[in-house]
Amino acid sequence: MKYVIALDAGTTSVRAFVYDLAAGKFVHDCRQETAQSFPRPGWVEQDASEIYYKAAYCLNDCVHAVGAENVAGVGITNQRETVVAWDRDTGEPVCNAIVWQCRRTSAFCAALPAEIVARVKAKTGLLPDAYFSASKMKWILENVPAARSLLSAGKLCLGTVDSYLAFKFTEGRAFASDRTNASRTMLYDIHAGRWDEELLRFFGVPEGALPRVVSCDARLGELNLGGRKIPLAGMAGDQQSALLGQACFAAGGGKITYGTGLFLLFHTGESCVTSEKGLLSTIACDLGGKVTYALEGSVFNAGSCVQWLRDEMGLLASAEESEALARSVPDTGGVSFVPAFTGLGAPYWNAEARALLCGVTRGTTRAHVVRAVLESIAFGARDVLDCMRRESGITLREIGCDGGASANDFLMQFQADTLGIGVRRPAERESTALGAAYLCGLALGLLDEAEILRRKKTERVFTPAEDREKAEMGYERYLVAVKRAISCDF
Ligand code: ADP
Repeated sequence: MKYVIALDAGTTSVRAFVYDLAAGKFVHDCRQETAQSFPRPGWVEQDASEIYYKAAYCLNDCVHAVGAENVAGVGITNQRETVVAWDRDTGEPVCNAIVWQCRRTSAFCAALPAEIVARVKAKTGLLPDAYFSASKMKWILENVPAARSLLSAGKLCLGTVDSYLAFKFTEGRAFASDRTNASRTMLYDIHAGRWDEELLRFFGVPEGALPRVVSCDARLGELNLGGRKIPLAGMAGDQQSALLGQACFAAGGGKITYGTGLFLLFHTGESCVTSEKGLLSTIACDLGGKVTYALEGSVFNAGSCVQWLRDEMGLLASAEESEALARSVPDTGGVSFVPAFTGLGAPYWNAEARALLCGVTRGTTRAHVVRAVLESIAFGARDVLDCMRRESGITLREIGCDGGASANDFLMQFQADTLGIGVRRPAERESTALGAAYLCGLALGLLDEAEILRRKKTERVFTPAEDREKAEMGYERYLVAVKRAISCDF
């Protein structure tokens, strides 16, 4: 059998990719947009059934394209933290999924007692925040009567998107989540490798409603596609999957994904490095019971700022146009931007901050604004990487990049200039899907780690400019702007 399929259930779309194992490349893909709803300011929801139906559509399209008999298996990667609650008998969701971006529980999280904050940090490696799954699950249990009655009947399933898809595709036979997804719930002890009793009690989430946690290269069951039973094998959260897709198995490797948000993951090997400065410790991977860790910095808004310039501000016809516009001016003309649309994530963790454009004069043009926005994306990564360098003591010579906005050569060059290290763009920029394809191959014994390392191909390395003064001055100005964004009380 020649192919494996990687299913990537993202935030704005679901995609499936056919990976040719012998040729080492994707040969077909199918994409379906998924809707989000915003029922109140700061709330973000999705219909989990739509995610499932569109995932099934994409998988069927892929199987149709290459023939079910040629497909060795399907691996899953997914948006993390998002919570789905469903009926164990029917597989039907009892309410909309609460998406990772949703801020509905931020007041609750901000008021958590100090001892719980300390327990969460020590056990889960996370900083208590509405971003993670625990408070979303608590909210569902307290506010959705159907969820409560299913719980008392012992029929409620609460899980992240991976576990919902695995459940649906195996017709309820696999109710399982992988260790990377579990590590984002704020209920999972990443050192002991189990759901944590104390945190479950505090958030009121019964263990019986949660999935069983398995390794990333586990065989989960079988799904019916194109009239055949195909193994469902391999699963990881999207950022961890991208890390694997970039062939980062060991301490010292790292990657930045530039999608809607920006996620920097830095592999710390078998030791779990804890951060004092707002970075998260998380599980990088679990291959056959060998657990490795990563430090992670999540910046909530990155590519979304380019969408904002295009859709709300009307300053761009397309995201791609931002590159030529930014290059059309030698600098931002003193303009700085802070992309705090939904507060600031790592390393600031300030839920109240809002975006700020400053240093604007009568001579400011749209090119200056566009350039300031792109530079702010690179500065967000710099904030996180500086922190990682300080806390882990490891020096990086190069970092991988991927995600939609990594196509922007101006942004990648500016990123190298401000970080002072090389930015490596892989030949295959769909690292997230590639990671899921690799996991499926590993689970089925069709690939090994050495083979994945051999497959690592570089399209281009952006090396830092000799003269980094301009980038440094811009960064100083940006830091002042961040302080203002945090102290502004509108
Ligand atoms: P996600 O997986 O979060 O949906 P993607 O990895 O598909 O995100 O990347 C899409 C994002 O990248 C969008 O927010 C878009 O604005 C941005 N983007 C795409 N192409 C470019 C480009 N050439 N320059 C800057 N931003 C871009």
